[in-house]
Amino acid sequence: MGAGMKQKALAQQLNQPLSWVRARIAIVALPVEAQAAIDAGELEVSDALKLAPYADQPDIIAEVLGGHWRGDLDWRLRNAVRDAERRTTLATAISEYEAAGIVAMTATPAGARALDALGLVDRDHRQERCHFVVVGTDYNGAVRSVAHCAEPTRHAKRGDSDLKTTGRSERPRSEAEQESIDAAKATKVANTHRNAFARDAIEAKLRRRDITDFVLPALFACAGQTEITEAAKLLQVVEPTKDAQSSYRDWSGPFRQWAGESQANLTRAMLAIAYVQAVAAGAWRPRANEALAGWLDRLGYKAPEPEA
Ligand SMILES: [Zn+2]
Repeated sequence: MGAGMKQKALAQQLNQPLSWVRARIAIVALPVEAQAAIDAGELEVSDALKLAPYADQPDIIAEVLGGHWRGDLDWRLRNAVRDAERRTTLATAISEYEAAGIVAMTATPAGARALDALGLVDRDHRQERCHFVVVGTDYNGAVRSVAHCAEPTRHAKRGDSDLKTTGRSERPRSEAEQESIDAAKATKVANTHRNAFARDAIEAKLRRRDITDFVLPALFACAGQTEITEAAKLLQVVEPTKDAQSSYRDWSGPFRQWAGESQANLTRAMLAIAYVQAVAAGAWRPRANEALAGWLDRLGYKAPEPEA
């Protein structure tokens, strides 16, 4: 009898699903940290089956266990595998450059500049002592290398260096200009990276917490002063603060505070905001009108009979 048949027979004897038996067998092969996480209830017993294929890759399991991201396990595993692949890809690229006598690194040290930004050509600069490449991976995991100069001042003035420039940077950029260009580039890279991460998270398994922990507070924080004031007046749960100098009554401050007191308050605040927005939505936003009508209908709302 094969191992699979034995597992099946055992499951029958124990009156448990086959997956129950397989998960408990898989636990034994996992690193102790994963076993401890299952014991502590941080992972489900059934998660052992998902971790099993990576039992001999402790770095991937460690990354999944240690990560502060709370995505579902499949998604965390995919990310960890991708990260591990990227590290391997980068290490290979770096050793290939080293074999060719070129320094390669994964970060750009302070003061270094991309050859492109200096108007220098890779072919000419390659033999210089200040030449190195920064390697990274793009979103498909492919290697991207950017040739850099570690001592841009060597080429700053005519005569200091006989390297030809491409002429792209006729007027040398001031340090401040370069810094703002670099900062803009870094921001763009960081945003693209975060967006890719967010896209993966949004495509992964949905959780109710996504709505309560993120969607509601973000939408509330972005709500306009007018709609918050209208929602506050609708709910009547707070007293507006009065400005002694004028007749100005501020509803939104106390309402924001009230909404921040509990998840239930925040949810009610956002319901009220959705309501006042849907009521105010004109004919050009029929979906808001439909949503409002559906909500009232499901709650059993009846319009008052016209008085005789
Ligand atoms: Zn250089």
